[in-house]
Amino acid sequence: MASGKRPQTTIVHAGSHPKQHMGAMNTPVYRASTIAFPSVEAIQDGIKNKFDIVFYGRHGTPSTFSLEEAMAAVEGGHRSVAVPSGLAAIVVSLLAYLKSGDHLLMVDSVYEPTRSFCARLQSHYGIETTFYDPLIGAGIKDLIQPNTKVIFTESPGSLTFEVQDLPAISKAAHEHGVKVLLDNTWSAGHYFKPFDHGVDVSIQAATKYIVGHADVMMGLITSATEEEWLEIKSASAAMGYSVGSDDCYLALRGLRTLDVRLQRHQETGLTLANYLKDRPEVAKVLHPALPDCPGHEIWQRDFTGSSGLFGVVLKDVPQDRVVAMLNGMELFTMGFSWGGFESLMIQTSPARARTATSWDAAGPTLRLHAGQEDANDLIADLDQGFKRLNGEA
Ligand SMILES: *Cc1c(COP(=O)(O)O)cnc(C)c1O
Repeated sequence: MASGKRPQTTIVHAGSHPKQHMGAMNTPVYRASTIAFPSVEAIQDGIKNKFDIVFYGRHGTPSTFSLEEAMAAVEGGHRSVAVPSGLAAIVVSLLAYLKSGDHLLMVDSVYEPTRSFCARLQSHYGIETTFYDPLIGAGIKDLIQPNTKVIFTESPGSLTFEVQDLPAISKAAHEHGVKVLLDNTWSAGHYFKPFDHGVDVSIQAATKYIVGHADVMMGLITSATEEEWLEIKSASAAMGYSVGSDDCYLALRGLRTLDVRLQRHQETGLTLANYLKDRPEVAKVLHPALPDCPGHEIWQRDFTGSSGLFGVVLKDVPQDRVVAMLNGMELFTMGFSWGGFESLMIQTSPARARTATSWDAAGPTLRLHAGQEDANDLIADLDQGFKRLNGEA
């Protein structure tokens, strides 16, 4: 096992058990629904231990368990649960802890589908949500009500990249018996270790950096303790979530190269961010490693690196010029998701998804993902893009 080793060593070895799989380094794909039991007694034993053994395909196969074991080690947590998408991981985690009449504190900079789910929590389940300022820190204590059960965090925030003070939020939460859930997708669990900062449950949209190749949907939920794990696993099992072994195999294969891939995403992301910062058309670069980003000093304190996703606020410019810029990009693809090998660029609308705070930007906002291409080629593509933005091409 890889516990106690440096993070990149853990990424390579965690969850790998060649001796149990005829020497195969990467746990093979176990396609299974029915699992054959040798006796009535074995079935009865199995029912008691169904979350800890290969019991029925829906609860996982060795392909699932290897991936879950590896992700738990990478995030520094106790145990993980695989679910079919990042959004499923968010939904399972919220429903594991919330019931009718409860109150949820949700960060205002959250990923938009998470925000939409809060409306459904209210309308279908009678669970109330209060949105809070991502930079609130210890001030979160004033928003905790007697029926508050969960504080949901996402750091840095989707689209706007505010970095949250997780130690301060967790301290306030735990003083009131409230659980802290974190969407930790941006750091991939490699550049931010949630359980060293008080988080109870860490969520990965593994679709992004863990899978890393833009070809699998997956969510992974990691908990600090066995007790939290059982809450999550029971909720996921009760809702019928199940992940295919082919997808687990691909996610684990992706995970093995996470360290080197992220190094490149980081390096290219910083190169692009610094290039953009100096462009006359740019009002602001929202990159946690750059001083302009809200919460930058917290990033510096708590993170060991930055991934390839960041934002740019342009100076005021007509929308048709932004469209011309984006439509003509050669290497930057337009599309949702991120964390794959390819560079991406889309226009975002942060103002639309805010209630506790407002988003007042000088002009349009873009979100970029720095992929694995050569940074010079990406900059040449951006140079041409700015010509279109300026009406010069
Ligand atoms: C993409 C994303 C999700 C959802 O993941 P899916 O696998 O697409 O469902 C959740 N949180 C964040 C921060 C994301 O970027």
